[in-house]
Amino acid sequence: MGKARTVTYAGHRLYMNTSGIHLLCEFNGCNPSILADACAIQQACEAAARLSKATVLRADFHEFLPNGVSGFLFLAESHISIHTWPEHKYAAVDIYTCGTLVSPRDAIPAISASLGASDVHLREILRGLPVRPGSYASREVSSATAVLADNNDSLINAGKKFWLPGSSSHHERHCFEVREWIASARSQYQQIEIVRNEAYGRMLFLDGAVQSAESDEYMYHEALVHPAMTLHHNPQRVLILGGGEGASLREALRHSSVKRAVMVDIDGMVVEMCRQHLPEWSAGAFDDPRSEVIIADGQRWVEACAEQFDIILMDLTDQIEVGSSFPLYTREFYECVQSRLAPGGMLVVQAGELCVCEYFSHCTIRRTLATTFRYVTTYMQHIPSFVAQWSWIIASNDDWTDLRNSRVSNARANGDLNTITRFYDQATHVRMFTLPRDIADLLDKGGMVITSDDTSREAYQIAAATRTPGWPGGAGQAIQELSRRRE
Ligand code: SAM
Repeated sequence: MGKARTVTYAGHRLYMNTSGIHLLCEFNGCNPSILADACAIQQACEAAARLSKATVLRADFHEFLPNGVSGFLFLAESHISIHTWPEHKYAAVDIYTCGTLVSPRDAIPAISASLGASDVHLREILRGLPVRPGSYASREVSSATAVLADNNDSLINAGKKFWLPGSSSHHERHCFEVREWIASARSQYQQIEIVRNEAYGRMLFLDGAVQSAESDEYMYHEALVHPAMTLHHNPQRVLILGGGEGASLREALRHSSVKRAVMVDIDGMVVEMCRQHLPEWSAGAFDDPRSEVIIADGQRWVEACAEQFDIILMDLTDQIEVGSSFPLYTREFYECVQSRLAPGGMLVVQAGELCVCEYFSHCTIRRTLATTFRYVTTYMQHIPSFVAQWSWIIASNDDWTDLRNSRVSNARANGDLNTITRFYDQATHVRMFTLPRDIADLLDKGGMVITSDDTSREAYQIAAATRTPGWPGGAGQAIQELSRRRE
């Protein structure tokens, strides 16, 4: 691999170094005579390397008696290996490439077609050195199943359907059929995919998690932005942390009271790709004279900023322990954010899935916010493309709960939102804040307070992975478990 290199994509520096994709593929129902033929197997692997834009350095393929082939392609970017069992119509293939200039996924349909496979299983692992101290980029993002379609209605040239895992927790996964791969890239922070699904339209995935979809992004973004914006008596200065698609910015700018809206996202490549491939999400918001878009780590930017805001919206990736947004879900960060809120200001945090089977993450955010803010209020809405009931929390030091209904009607009477929102209105507002008893009972159970020290990150990791359905003992129990494991 040699030394790390940098290349430029849309004006941003990409690190062409250890970051890589490892695909572990199981091909079933293959043609046995092809699986027994070392020449045919070598040709299939070389074609796959070409489609991946990888450079073949050397090839070594062996036919075994009575049958079967083992083969290896040395690539400048790492390797492709194959082992075949003609008697079982099965082949196991490993494709591992480093750097951001290759696209190993493009090889799968071609190999599948060459082997005549009827069923493909694919697992994908992101590999490489930690992207920054304390975080580790390497984690399994998917266990996608690539299924051969009987018909020819497919994507990527070989008549196959591909499934991308969209939402997942430690105990479940949901997949989306990919009709078309629109764009795919690995930034310094995350794996970015923009694809088209027949039912949901264009979809943005980061590290294998759905961020938003054409069919229902308005629901998520209206729910994130409008409750606090309409409850606040005069929101003029808005800060958005994350929100790379530009849709939260779009919704904030719908309020005529807004004089300045700052969006700080860590990943310039997400912003650029969304601007190019999902322009309706921002709908001109990036070019609005009231907007300022800053590419920076939200934590560092907020710590350094001297400004105050009426509304701060955290539209970040989920607080998974390995992700770049984790530090923004800590008690220390919330303390800092609080000091950047003007009097009467509100913080809104997207707070993950919330249902009777999955509430650890929400309760953790809530508990952590409650260490800093006097009032924390949960609301929720089912988001179809998240395949989940989603939640948000408004945190503030002023009691606005009694204003819950009246301000909403005022704002709408002012005409700001009338005829513009597709989802949000007064009845919807009230419904989102009206929690059923089972959910209301859960809110202060489970979860833990996240702080910025490493113990907390590890404890969260253990608690999130092991609790079923929650850690009633919260942080204490997770930290005890952590100490036990260390002994
Ligand atoms: N709707 C989404 C969800 O439910 O998870 C959030 C969408 S938005 C695309 C998430 C954004 O957070 C991404 O663009 C990502 O680059 C950004 N992000 C992650 N870590 C960040 C950080 N430390 N500072 C600023 N932005 C960050």
